[in-house]
Amino acid sequence: MGVQSLETPEGIEYFTSQHHHRSYGSMHGDGRSYGSMHGDGRSYGSMHGDGDGEVDETEAYHLKQPIHVETSGMHVFETGDDDFSIQTTESEKAPNSTCPLNIHMGGNVRSLLCRFTAAACILLYSIFVALGKYELHIHPLLGAGSICTLLCTTNNIKRKRSRLGSTFISRISKAFCCKSQQQHTATGPFENTSSNMNMLSCSKRGDPNMNRINILLVLLPCLVYGMRSVGGHMADNGFEFNQSLHKHVANDFGKLSAFAMSAFLVPVARHSILLECLGLDPRYGLRVHIFSGCIAVVTGLGHGIYWFFIWMLVQKKEFWEIIPSGDCWTKTRHDHEDCSAQFVNLLGILCGVCFIGLSVTSLWWIRRNYYRFFYVSHIVFSILLCYGLAMHYNKMILYLAPSLVYYLASCVPALVQAFRSWSEGGALITKVVHIPDSRDCVELSIQMDEHHKLEESLCGKYVRVCVPEISKVWHPFTVYSDQDDPHNLKLTFRCTGPFTQDLSDRLSLTKSSGVQNPKFLVDGFYGAEDRLSNALDHETIVIVAGGVGIVSYISLLNKLRSTTRSSINSETTFQTNRIILHWTCRDEGLIRYVKENYLDFKDEDFRNFPLSLYIHHTHAINNESTLCAIDKEDNMNYDNEWKGQEIVPRGKPFVPYQLSSGHRKIAQNLPAAILFSLLTWGNLWIILYFYKNVQTKKAVLSRIYVLISMSLYSIILSGLGLLILQWASQHSYSSVSTADNCGDSSTCTKNKDDASTKDISVSTEGSSDDFSFDLENQPISYQIKHSQGRPEFNEDSFDLPDTCVFVCGPASLLKSVRECCKSDNCAIYEEIFEM
Ligand SMILES: Cc1cc2nc3c(=O)[nH]c(=O)nc-3n(C[C@H](O)[C@H](O)[C@H](O)COP(=O)(O)OP(=O)(O)OC[C@H]3O[C@@H](n4cnc5c(N)ncnc54)[C@H](O)[C@@H]3O)c2cc1C
Repeated sequence: MGVQSLETPEGIEYFTSQHHHRSYGSMHGDGRSYGSMHGDGRSYGSMHGDGDGEVDETEAYHLKQPIHVETSGMHVFETGDDDFSIQTTESEKAPNSTCPLNIHMGGNVRSLLCRFTAAACILLYSIFVALGKYELHIHPLLGAGSICTLLCTTNNIKRKRSRLGSTFISRISKAFCCKSQQQHTATGPFENTSSNMNMLSCSKRGDPNMNRINILLVLLPCLVYGMRSVGGHMADNGFEFNQSLHKHVANDFGKLSAFAMSAFLVPVARHSILLECLGLDPRYGLRVHIFSGCIAVVTGLGHGIYWFFIWMLVQKKEFWEIIPSGDCWTKTRHDHEDCSAQFVNLLGILCGVCFIGLSVTSLWWIRRNYYRFFYVSHIVFSILLCYGLAMHYNKMILYLAPSLVYYLASCVPALVQAFRSWSEGGALITKVVHIPDSRDCVELSIQMDEHHKLEESLCGKYVRVCVPEISKVWHPFTVYSDQDDPHNLKLTFRCTGPFTQDLSDRLSLTKSSGVQNPKFLVDGFYGAEDRLSNALDHETIVIVAGGVGIVSYISLLNKLRSTTRSSINSETTFQTNRIILHWTCRDEGLIRYVKENYLDFKDEDFRNFPLSLYIHHTHAINNESTLCAIDKEDNMNYDNEWKGQEIVPRGKPFVPYQLSSGHRKIAQNLPAAILFSLLTWGNLWIILYFYKNVQTKKAVLSRIYVLISMSLYSIILSGLGLLILQWASQHSYSSVSTADNCGDSSTCTKNKDDASTKDISVSTEGSSDDFSFDLENQPISYQIKHSQGRPEFNEDSFDLPDTCVFVCGPASLLKSVRECCKSDNCAIYEEIFEM
């Protein structure tokens, strides 16, 4: 268990050289600290926070005397010219680098290839949109989808970027006027390809700049197309506004709307392979969907209003003529030319209503307060809109093909898998803990299928959960695992609304009541961005969590812990040299539970980059029962409750999405790639077949057959494919050796634990005499401090050299951190619990 420093508000101070920021923890008593909580509460994690906020780096932090820190096998020393270096003693080098540090060049190249394929194909798609090539724009997206499904790999956590790769990235970044990564990252051998992503976003590291992506990939192509086609029609008509020009321009608006929708389902499709390859979290994909949707609604309504104007003012028709006359509804007449024109108008109105319905029900306020209403109306309006649009215009299916084909190929298999899980009783919940004194937080353990033991890193991952008995809506929850228990996936939720409350109540029925758990469907994993790579790309990692948001960082901390432990015995150096975690929480019970079960690190766990953990308890507490009293003995009282209640198990172990790629070996991706390709290219074939052979320009009804056929084809093929995949995975997994799965946290645990645990020794000869602590007895790698009240962040808080801030919590916390993380040194990565 980590040693706590309880009674003092003094901070932990890290000594650093004047020019280099590699630093090692030791205790300092003058209150000038960084990475610390000051007594006056003015500065947290601030490098220059000496109370008056002034920078006094030279005086306070420049080391006049050499400092020598020796860890097992690693010496860190200051050289005469203010330079630090790390050496590994030969004798203690690991014979083979331990699991997490295995460099898998194949994975690296594949990862790079995937990113470039995805980015290049999306760019090509945008160019086709700008040129109005509605018959071609689907090909790059489907091509990229197939290639990426085959090549995608997630086993590239600490990748060694090849020279070729880094030069390429740097050149392209410059071409996009972006700050090259190399300009502000140190030259450690391990850099991650998350920076590749920034080619697209062109922002400093941190979450991608979605505004730029939206402008570049959505707005610009639509604008170019709009201007080209409206300008072309005006030029054709000699800039004379006659009826023909009005009709053309009105239709241009409609086509613009169709183009805006042509790929807007791609970023919100479940398990979207393109998002995964680009390292984009679905939460960011959603922003592209919303942005494209807004353009589609505005231009679609523009199309409708323009036609209304033509009808009423140019053609002088009666409004009621929009509704097809009586005999058009008979079977023999519905494809008559006059009748189909009338149906087109009626369908246009239906689509207009759907557009308005979708926009109004998607408003932020409705989403936040009436999520179920938003969810149901979104599905109903979307399906109506889809059929309405397909019937409205013969070629519409070609415009919408990328969205429809990709969405069906990504979502139908996931839904079919969920249906199969439902028929088998859902995912097997092995433990339910109603955490005492936590304001209704419940932790669930879900057993993983033995063939799918947490193979991938769970840092920043979440699953979607559906409990049909309570609600048909899928709810997202962050997942993590106990490092000693790779067989169980964990999630913790707080009862905030009807779903979580009903679920908690339903799960509290114990074995004695004889009631089984409800069927619990899980779909995962989501959250493509690899948070560990993001973190290791920075010198200082600051994690800010609010309440139950801490669960987002349990896996990350475990991974950082295993990384630091294994790096002790390797030749590796990391950018990272310290981790600071601020956890603000009201609930004493939650603090106890999480701290005891997941933050119970050992002193040697964070040697290479020390962890300072600040727990800010925001609930008023009396002096006797301060959090300082949270210790092992106290926790004994909770042991029984923490064991979880007795439940009647139901269902089968959880199998993650079977069509997910990202395996270490390409051969393992092959089934998913084949199924994805069959679904996408097969559906494209269906579209073209129906367009050429079944649909006519006049018969409106004939245009819906294609949608029905696509849906049926997707369901049948997905069902068959998943059956085959399940059979194949059961056979193939048994032959994959455990050693092969080094990305797997579980299999690596053994190696990590073998890491040397020699005591750290600190030589502080001649250093300043204001140490108020006995260094011999103070752990310097892992510190916990408790304090009362909220932390107040300011700009200095995150103005440390090359800092990344991971933040998850309530909107107010996100806002305050966002406002303070503005300097060029600071990159922010947010885990947003709202979509
Ligand atoms: C990526 C992600 C990870 C999350 N992880 C956790 C976690 O680990 N622990 C935790 O307690 N909470 C987590 N949440 C929040 C959690 O999903 C919601 O609090 C929960 O669904 C609310 O359910 P409810 O009982 O209030 O029911 P509802 O009344 O159904 O929902 C209330 C509100 O929850 C949000 N919500 C519900 N369903 C969805 C959905 N499908 N997508 C987006 N937002 C939705 C909406 O804001 C909605 O207004 C996470 C959210 C996201 C987006």
